[in-house]
Amino acid sequence: MAETIETPKREKIHKTDAEWREILTPEQFHVMRQKGTERAFTGALVNNHADGVYHCGACNVPLFTSDKKFESGSGWPSFWLPVSADAIEAHEDNTHGMRRVEVTCATCGAHLGHVFPDGPRPTGLRYCINSASLAFEEK
Ligand SMILES: [Zn+2]
Repeated sequence: MAETIETPKREKIHKTDAEWREILTPEQFHVMRQKGTERAFTGALVNNHADGVYHCGACNVPLFTSDKKFESGSGWPSFWLPVSADAIEAHEDNTHGMRRVEVTCATCGAHLGHVFPDGPRPTGLRYCINSASLAFEEK
């Protein structure tokens, strides 16, 4: 199957929690639907260096590519740019006594992680993403 990185305008996906529970593992459900965070250095994709595309673990839309992944040392998969500006959405997050910017899948609303302003050039951004929110497809 030919891989395309373009993300044309998509219908938003809306499902109930019960419907998501049927599709997702308990860990995926906790992270993506309840805004959980996997423990640092425990995720399956932290040290993944293969070439390929990281899709949303819930709706399978392409979100990140391996050429924008970098070693942040944070313990979570880190990217400096998503596949397109409209693939993800950013939301102010003031929980846990911190001012952070949460990022979610623009298509299905799944919680992905947070974006921080301490990433590498050229964007200066660090998208800190849970492995549990991603499905990797090797090239
Ligand atoms: Zn999604």
